[in-house]
Amino acid sequence: MNTKSHLTWSTDDAAELYAINEWGAGYFKIDHNGEVAVTSTTENNVQVQASVLDIVRQARERGMDAPVLIRFEDLLAQQIKRLNEAFRKAIKDSHYQAEYRGVFPVKVNQQCHVIEEIAQVGAPYNHGFEAGSKPELIIALATLENREACIICNGYKDEEFIDLGLQACNMGYNVFFVIETPSELPIILKRSRALGIKPMIGVRVKLASMVGGHWNATSGDRSIFGLSTAQVIELVDTLKAEDMLDCLQLLHYHLGSQIPNIRDIRTGVLEACQVYMDLVREGANMGYLDLGGGLAVDYDGSKSNYVHSRNYSLDEYCADIVDVIMSTLDPFNISHPIIVTESGRATVAYSSLLVFNVLDVAHYEPGKIPSEIPASENVMVHNLSDLISLVNERNIQECYNDAVFYRDELREIFKRGQINLRSRSLAENLFLAVMHRILAIAEEMPRGLDEAEKLKDQLSDIFYCNFSLFQSLPDMWAIEQVFPVMPLHRLDEKPIRNAIIADITCDCDGKIDRFADHRGTRKTLPLHQPKDDEEYYIGAFLVGAYQETLGDLHNLFGDTNVVSIRFNDDGSYDFIHEIEGDSIADVLSYVEYNPQEMQNRFRRTAEQAVREGRITPAERLKIMNAFSDSMRGYTYYEK
Ligand SMILES: *Cc1c(COP(=O)(O)O)cnc(C)c1O
Repeated sequence: MNTKSHLTWSTDDAAELYAINEWGAGYFKIDHNGEVAVTSTTENNVQVQASVLDIVRQARERGMDAPVLIRFEDLLAQQIKRLNEAFRKAIKDSHYQAEYRGVFPVKVNQQCHVIEEIAQVGAPYNHGFEAGSKPELIIALATLENREACIICNGYKDEEFIDLGLQACNMGYNVFFVIETPSELPIILKRSRALGIKPMIGVRVKLASMVGGHWNATSGDRSIFGLSTAQVIELVDTLKAEDMLDCLQLLHYHLGSQIPNIRDIRTGVLEACQVYMDLVREGANMGYLDLGGGLAVDYDGSKSNYVHSRNYSLDEYCADIVDVIMSTLDPFNISHPIIVTESGRATVAYSSLLVFNVLDVAHYEPGKIPSEIPASENVMVHNLSDLISLVNERNIQECYNDAVFYRDELREIFKRGQINLRSRSLAENLFLAVMHRILAIAEEMPRGLDEAEKLKDQLSDIFYCNFSLFQSLPDMWAIEQVFPVMPLHRLDEKPIRNAIIADITCDCDGKIDRFADHRGTRKTLPLHQPKDDEEYYIGAFLVGAYQETLGDLHNLFGDTNVVSIRFNDDGSYDFIHEIEGDSIADVLSYVEYNPQEMQNRFRRTAEQAVREGRITPAERLKIMNAFSDSMRGYTYYEK
């Protein structure tokens, strides 16, 4: 707990508490008004800054209420630039003899505006796309105009997929078919012969190198995708026999997403380089080494090899890759390959921010306690009451144990009907009062109480917030991903509440109770007490990767409103795209209802009620208007 008093609290303390300068990557910080600011450089390299809350206010005036997803086009552009510039620098510094060609894996964010922005900003760098399915290949072909860029096709490929890719090759696109399973090659060869077009073939190899982090099952012998070394050799032999070994030009591997440890990245490249060299020696016309994704995002700001972090910078990542390739290949005079990476997460995570408002707060605090406990109350109720004044630093542990004992006993005798609801309610209030007293004392003690941390969590508030975890932050639920979460304003004011966050789905899993911390994760987040006359806004940051399309319609909460922001050189910004979130009619039609028919049916029921004299025709009109207003409304809480 930050021991700073209210009086000496500053925005620096808030920055430290929420670690914004650590995970913010220079894009997010706290401004002098105590609000979260986004900073960026524009296309013309001018440094600009805006308060996120100001963007939220402006969006609201345009009818785009919270929950709202804000996309910062400039941040996406900058990440593409940072990645490409970092590789260019590493290549130049080491006199590496080939280029870097990044590809963006479409699956990480398929949204049209995101893909179009990547194609545009990536064009000068020949940045391409990785497609894992037919729709993704279609997106890549329709969006990419740059013929130097690569389109890497992973995933299962049927004849239709292959035909499309081959014909795109004919048009001058660098479409690589990456062989992921041995059964794919015969189809590619067959379609290539039928169309008379030579394919560009890559092979995905299963490396023995394993990585730490959540996705470690993607690496090693039992990974689902890729060929074993024995299968790679069979592939080479088949291509040789077909006189098509010259088509094999790319080696691919993917060790998994969010690789926290740079050592694992080095080990992976090293092993891949050995495979690459042997493919060259076998006579394949190699030229590309594709390292897949894995470049991690430091979600908790700890710069460590913890799962939500990374212990390396982007520059180190690039330099290490270049270094390992050169030191492995150079002794054997093997030409440097074009380096391809498929960074998705690190490219788009920063550019989206989910903003939601707080609807209600539940406090775990004692209700009214009478100044005198009636003599008729059970003796244990009296004992609980006495503990409040009795507890001190020396007997704190004993008082804690006693209080828990009395509370449990009182609950027990309530079950047996020996005390009534009113007495039990008094007992629960007294218990909470004792616990708050104990916590207050424990926090002043150098070697507090063993249970203090747990107690703090148990006494924490629940902030009910206007969003659906399943729709907007699915990885928080599915894989216990941690995203930075913090208030967007009042950061010059000490946050005095300690809370978990609950969403508005009626699902007990719809909550955030793991927050980034310098030392790992913690269960609660310090927040401010919301004011009656002012919305309290919270942001979930770095949510641009994977969350949007993975999200689902649990409890029929639909897509949120989305606004895209682009900065001008004078620091102003434009709302370049606004996408209204799903209406109730939208989500109902996703699950096969026909909103028009539902309205007709409801109208018949209302007409019946008129006929039966339950409502007047004027009331029918009102009800029908309410019904159709709802249909058109936002699925989230509207004020
Ligand atoms: C998912 C995936 C990626 C993206 O990985 P990130 O860690 O998000 O950069 C890249 N390549 C392949 C083959 C993938 O499956």
